[in-house]
Amino acid sequence: MIKPKILILGAGYGGLMTAINLQKRLRSRDAEITLVNKNSYHYETTWLHEASAGNLKPEQVRYEIKDVLHKKIIFKQATVEKIDIHYKSVQTNQGELYYDYLVVALGFEGETFGIDGLDKYTFGITNVNDARKIRDHIHTQFAEWASQELFEKDDALLTIVVGGAGFTGIEFIGELANKVPELCREYDVPREKVRIICVEAAPSILPMFSETLVNYAVDVLTDKGIEFSVGTPVVQATKEGVKIKKGPNQFDFIKAGTVVWAAGVRGPRVVEESDLPSRRARVAVEEDLSVPGYQHIFMVGDCAFLVNRETERPYPPTAQIAVQQANTVARNLVALVKGKETKPFIPDLKGTVCSLGGSDAISNAFGKEITGKTAYIMKKVIDNRALYLIGGLGLVLKKGKLNPFK
Ligand code: FAD
Ligand code: NAD
Repeated sequence: MIKPKILILGAGYGGLMTAINLQKRLRSRDAEITLVNKNSYHYETTWLHEASAGNLKPEQVRYEIKDVLHKKIIFKQATVEKIDIHYKSVQTNQGELYYDYLVVALGFEGETFGIDGLDKYTFGITNVNDARKIRDHIHTQFAEWASQELFEKDDALLTIVVGGAGFTGIEFIGELANKVPELCREYDVPREKVRIICVEAAPSILPMFSETLVNYAVDVLTDKGIEFSVGTPVVQATKEGVKIKKGPNQFDFIKAGTVVWAAGVRGPRVVEESDLPSRRARVAVEEDLSVPGYQHIFMVGDCAFLVNRETERPYPPTAQIAVQQANTVARNLVALVKGKETKPFIPDLKGTVCSLGGSDAISNAFGKEITGKTAYIMKKVIDNRALYLIGGLGLVLKKGKLNPFK
């Protein structure tokens, strides 16, 4: 009997979780399963802000994909270049692959909204190498300032602008606030010379949280020396810094040695450039997460666009959703292989936690508003759980956040 070919693109939360699920549910003789990823390793995207600030080593946020897969899954390290849904083929930099069933889980890219200069002059927090670049750049700026003569010191080298006060921007700022005292000691920089400015277009930071939680976050971060500029969208980035809009025909320029862009995400370009029907590189899917008209193609995670019927708003692109979608897609693939009906995606949303650096966080998980150490411990549990779901206790012991004080 010819085995159906299942091809999974991307080994982030969605793709790797789909593969792990399938390796538990299908036998080798049921299907040939191939997982494709551009790197040999998976990284914890949800920890990248910590690596970007230099508070976690890049090695801790990544692990080899082969170490968590059984032999029945074929792993291929390759970059996906084109998806051809008519010929059921995928072009990669390592050759062409064919499928009977396809899972697209290629994640996200930073959204720049076409704003002038952002692509060229800002850093994004999207993968391990981006995190390394941000960490190293900040060190270089401090070292440059330290090596300048007293009369020529350019304090803008020590100014870090973060564009966007959503989860990514705030979590990164929290980490940075904790790192700065260490950087100041290392490079003999007076703390008051360092400016970290969070620029947000909307009238408030973290719009998904209540006013009480937002005020708590602002107080914690302001106490650590963070400056906020809200209601002031970034409209341009240059080599020297960013231009912000303060009102009709009113602009300001912030000189900064480092600009980190964390103002939202879109799907990956490769999805947009394929013949999948996409908008901002995300594909609107059916309730069972298949592509309309293509019951054998599934979108998972940040590439998928689905509206929550209860709230009539799209599900946000989060790891929580990606993992739950992976479970649904794996179950649906097993059903299709066995000639059964697919089932709809029914998420179990538990709320969210936003870390503020150190051992502080805010959370609205399980319908309760929590702040401080308890919320922070909750975040650690979530981080370790993600490892456990993929690689069990062994992976938690190897890569987990096991120190409750750090
Ligand atoms: P990803 O996890 O991004 O995986 C995509 C995979 O595809 C990667 O392995 C990538 O290397 C690979 N890939 C990409 N392009 C190609 C290609 N062309 N060829 C081959 N392989 C390719 N969500 C939460 O729920 N909780 C959090 O606490 C949280 N924290 C976050 C913190 C930060 C700093 C960021 C940036 C995001 C955070 N998110 C969080 C959002 C969450 O990380 C994403 O929603 C999640 O990673 C999406 O999973 P995914 O599988 O769709 O994509
Ligand atoms: P986001 O869309 O949640 O926030 C982006 C912010 O940037 C918004 O507040 C927006 O108003 C602002 N912005 C947009 N254009 C701007 C401009 N020109 N100038 C200044 N500000 C501008 O995006 P994100 O924070 O990158 O998060 C992406 C996804 O990842 C979200 O779904 C988020 O929920 C998820 N995430 C979750 C966690 C967590 O659960 N702890 C952490 C990080 C990310």
